[in-house]
Amino acid sequence: MSKPLPKHASVVIIGGGIQGLAIAFNLVEQGQRDILVLDAGYWQGGASGRNGTLIRPGFASEAWTELFVLTVKEWESWSKRLGENVMFTQRGYSVVAETEKSEAMLLAGLKVQKRLGVKSSMLSRREIDDLLPAINKSRVRAVQHQPEGGVAPHHAVMKGLLAFCQRNDVDIRYRTKITGLERTPARMSAVLVGEHRIEADCVVSCAGPNNPDIAAMAAVPLNGFGMRIEAMALEPTRPLIKPAIALIDGLAYFHQTSRGEVVGGTEVPEMPRMSLQVDVPVMANMAKVYLDMFPQLGEVRILRHWAGQFHASTDYAPLLGEHPDLKDLWFSAGWSYGFAGAPAAGKLLADAIVKGRIDHRMKPFALDRFDKTGPIIEGGIVLA
Ligand SMILES: Cc1cc2nc3c(=O)[nH]c(=O)nc-3n(C[C@H](O)[C@H](O)[C@H](O)COP(=O)(O)OP(=O)(O)OC[C@H]3O[C@@H](n4cnc5c(N)ncnc54)[C@H](O)[C@@H]3O)c2cc1C
Repeated sequence: MSKPLPKHASVVIIGGGIQGLAIAFNLVEQGQRDILVLDAGYWQGGASGRNGTLIRPGFASEAWTELFVLTVKEWESWSKRLGENVMFTQRGYSVVAETEKSEAMLLAGLKVQKRLGVKSSMLSRREIDDLLPAINKSRVRAVQHQPEGGVAPHHAVMKGLLAFCQRNDVDIRYRTKITGLERTPARMSAVLVGEHRIEADCVVSCAGPNNPDIAAMAAVPLNGFGMRIEAMALEPTRPLIKPAIALIDGLAYFHQTSRGEVVGGTEVPEMPRMSLQVDVPVMANMAKVYLDMFPQLGEVRILRHWAGQFHASTDYAPLLGEHPDLKDLWFSAGWSYGFAGAPAAGKLLADAIVKGRIDHRMKPFALDRFDKTGPIIEGGIVLA
């Protein structure tokens, strides 16, 4: 029988996906104790166990690139710090443009990336031949390559985080749903699991597509909406694709695992948004996009097809920080690239919670940016 829930915790984290566990891990590293993670579902049941696992440092805007340069730096040290191999493999990440507009965006992004120290470059035709021999070159207008990008399998990452947190006395409960929040006019005070009340000095919401529900429980506004996208895995085949790939015009992303499966999806938001059901037309569209770019994939069959949900902000950029209307309620929300971004979010939020230090890389992603500085314009994400 599991032990009863506590009556108090210094930090309560809502959601035990990669965001929640990354924050717990960084809080422990910063000396924070008495951390409770509550998750309504099962371990890896959210988007953190359903994603493409692609990671890259470079985007088109300064805000995204600074955040993701930090995240790649953090990924490089996670295995050592966690004492668990998260299998982060820097096999490179190629962003493919098929139109003049996308090529111009990649060129503009390259300048930003160079300024921020990303080792990216535009590939010559010869380099495209060497790195991506199986690509349909008649469709390719330009390729931006980021050698520091890559992939990390979510089972290894989630296991590493869970094992570290458990070794360090973080109390983690799955199948435990937050059903209400209590607040004073000024601050967050407690979370409710049914009848059970847990007083909290600080609450961090990492509830993925349910972040808006958590905000509603605290009677505060939160930008954004829940969103569903779909992905698939092909049966193993010989090595055809070395780097992780994003097709900026096909809205597709994929990579080939070391076992030979091609895994990824097309990030077209599907309706209804709050469902895990998959659609055959979506699968057919993914297959067409893959085939157009890598015709040899026509030889292999589709193994699995699944859906996942996340919370998207209206500019598709993360929402990071304390809620401007309610002290001690923090969010790591709005994450469409939240697998890649978790190491940076974990570090920045733990720094902010423990030391009260708001890093300059976190500031652009403040929850109230829409009323203050306006939305973040980022053309380099693979989202409609
Ligand atoms: C098909 C697909 C492909 C993707 N590909 C990539 C990719 O290649 N690279 C990338 O960076 N990102 C990718 N993403 C996005 C990425 O998976 C998410 O941004 C990331 O996993 C978000 O992590 P999270 O911890 O916030 O959310 P989740 O993993 O969804 O965790 C949220 C948790 O909150 C819990 N919860 C919800 N409500 C409550 C409640 N009331 N009480 C307690 N717990 C609650 C849920 O049970 C869930 O476990 C992809 C997503 C999908 C769906």
